[in-house]
Amino acid sequence: MGTPDQVRLAGDADQVVQAVQELTSSGKQFAVRSGGHCYEDFVTNQEVRAVIDLSQLDGVYFDPRYPAFVVEPGAVLGDVYSKLYKGWGVTLPGGTCPTVGAGGHIVGGGYGALSRLHGLTVDHLYGVEVVVVDASGTARKVVATRDAADPNRELWWAHTGAGGGNFGVITKYLLRSPGATGSDPATLLPRPPANLLVSSVSWDWASMTQAAFTTLLRNFGEWCAANSSATGPYASLFSQLKPTHVSAGSFSMSTQIDAGLPNAAALLEDFLSAVNSGVGVAYQVQDQRVISWQHAVTLWPGFTAPDTRPGSRRSPPI
Ligand SMILES: Cc1cc2nc3c(=O)[nH]c(=O)nc-3n(C[C@H](O)[C@H](O)[C@H](O)COP(=O)(O)OP(=O)(O)OC[C@H]3O[C@@H](n4cnc5c(N)ncnc54)[C@H](O)[C@@H]3O)c2cc1C
Repeated sequence: MGTPDQVRLAGDADQVVQAVQELTSSGKQFAVRSGGHCYEDFVTNQEVRAVIDLSQLDGVYFDPRYPAFVVEPGAVLGDVYSKLYKGWGVTLPGGTCPTVGAGGHIVGGGYGALSRLHGLTVDHLYGVEVVVVDASGTARKVVATRDAADPNRELWWAHTGAGGGNFGVITKYLLRSPGATGSDPATLLPRPPANLLVSSVSWDWASMTQAAFTTLLRNFGEWCAANSSATGPYASLFSQLKPTHVSAGSFSMSTQIDAGLPNAAALLEDFLSAVNSGVGVAYQVQDQRVISWQHAVTLWPGFTAPDTRPGSRRSPPI
């Protein structure tokens, strides 16, 4: 549990510079918080004496100067997806929990339901605006991009997977797909499928034997390995097998596939059959329907709902 002496609520990047300068000069150990979804105690631990809270820096907009989309660290994924899609019909292949903050998420990679099609979110990272402290102890704001001629390119590279809290305080992510050209925002990031065929099935723990469960896990892994191609028929199929603790009573598997594929229903059926092949325990279909992509990323409980059942590893928003 954290017991910071102060929480600095930053309203813009200059206030972040000021907070970093004052805390660095005072020698206080500080940490940054954006969406508050850290799995570790990097922010809430006894050594941290001050927290810089970036939840107010939550803009999502297009900046023609770069040209690139700006996602500020306090923006939560559900809002990022909604704003990018409603504004320009584009998206990022990021995580499925709508209350995760961009701040810690993108710098750690950002993996989600569209990653089989479009890679990680950092694959689309053009640059970062980040507050760093130089050797003389002076805090300043710098922009680092992937441009070959950018003297700060190494700093951009450090933000393509190293995780939050390592190199500085990110105040803006700049996003544009590699190879994207021109200035039309609608062409600078991936476009998601308009509709998804979604499915949730569950198995009762009471009917499961160790052998049946082993077969199920092996089937799932082997299917993923055999169908990992980004260009095969299953490229848009994404599935999460969620083997919650036995005290939950049952465990589930949620799946989505591009509903625009002419044989989407047959592909889904083949996948479900392959996963349950030889298990000997029937699954129950909890949900199967076509929903819009916008609905899927903000409301569909298969991927977005906090699972609060006993034994679950997912937690409600902090
Ligand atoms: C319920 C849940 C579901 C998740 N689902 C997914 C998923 O589908 N895909 C996936 O890839 N990940 C997922 N994650 C992991 C998530 O991406 C990471 O935990 C991420 O670091 C959370 O970012 P945050 O800003 O919400 O958290 P915070 O707790 O605010 O920050 C996390 C870390 O990043 C640092 N940090 C935060 N903001 C900044 C900043 N602006 N500059 C520098 N450092 C910063 C913090 O100091 C801390 O070390 C999930 C996590 C949870 C709790």
